[in-house]
Amino acid sequence: MTHEELAAGSAAVLVVGSANVDLVVPADRRPGAGETVLGGDTAVSPGGKGANTAVAAGRLGARVALLGAVGEDAYGGVLLDSLRDAGVHTGLVRETGRPTGIAYITVTPDGENSILVSPGANSALVPTDVDDVADADDVDDVDDVYDGVRVVVASLEIPLPVVERALEAAAAAGVTTVLNLSPVAKVPDATLAALDVLLVNEHEAAWLLGGSSLGDPGALLDLGPKAAVVTIGARGALVVTAEGVREVPSPKVKPVDTTGAGDAFAGALAASLAEGASLADASARAVEVAAVSVTRRGAQPSYPTKEELS
Ligand code: ADP
Repeated sequence: MTHEELAAGSAAVLVVGSANVDLVVPADRRPGAGETVLGGDTAVSPGGKGANTAVAAGRLGARVALLGAVGEDAYGGVLLDSLRDAGVHTGLVRETGRPTGIAYITVTPDGENSILVSPGANSALVPTDVDDVADADDVDDVDDVYDGVRVVVASLEIPLPVVERALEAAAAAGVTTVLNLSPVAKVPDATLAALDVLLVNEHEAAWLLGGSSLGDPGALLDLGPKAAVVTIGARGALVVTAEGVREVPSPKVKPVDTTGAGDAFAGALAASLAEGASLADASARAVEVAAVSVTRRGAQPSYPTKEELS
């Protein structure tokens, strides 16, 4: 997507986040220090929280752009192809001199994953990437960039200052802000306080609340966001607003692979909010989409299209 297109409002959802290629190797056991283990064939699949979220929203027919970064290498091409196939605008995905982010995933027969992430190009993102969009010749200020954008959804596999800048600019432009605080990390109080929706899974919520289990999800609002959504795996999600905590149950499904389920939820939530749905309705849709995603293998390949949903 060019800056003009974005300013003209061709994206309703702007995703700010990572793009990684997942290299998944099945192995009988994971190698110890100094050891070599022969594994099975490598599966290469497009991933990263930002790219997953954008693809999930794109499959649902949302007009969506990703602000992110890849390397000028073959894996970058894999990611860009997957994004474009899902209808995601990629003009704000910067091609950097750093290698594309890669997650090296070993899967053992007990189903356990061990994951080594090399963020590469994702680490090359800087706050001025957000400003650069704003400073493009044809765009007067940040408000113009966010013209037409209704929801910004950010996640944390990229440098925190970029996330902070993107959310700050979005809030200033009156755009609905969603932060998928995953992987969970300490973020400034002011960032949380300026959020419309804080999106976390149960473990992340517990971490934020300083406990080992979720406890009172209502306490998430004490951190400052207007609302929070807590995903609770097979049970669905909890929508937390000033009115109270409302459970959004999940349809019962037979899960085969939950990889990227949280990102499917985030993309679907953002897509529905951009269409003007209430947070409760958007969460119900997101639960439906995420439930489909866990019945299929992989992250991005598991995400349903609008036509596949009832
Ligand atoms: P994460 O994937 O971030 O760890 P969750 O485990 O809470 O977060 O999953 C995110 C969403 O995916 C849930 O809110 C739910 O909608 C869906 N989901 C996850 N696991 C299942 C499951 N076993 N059955 C149905 N839906 C699931």
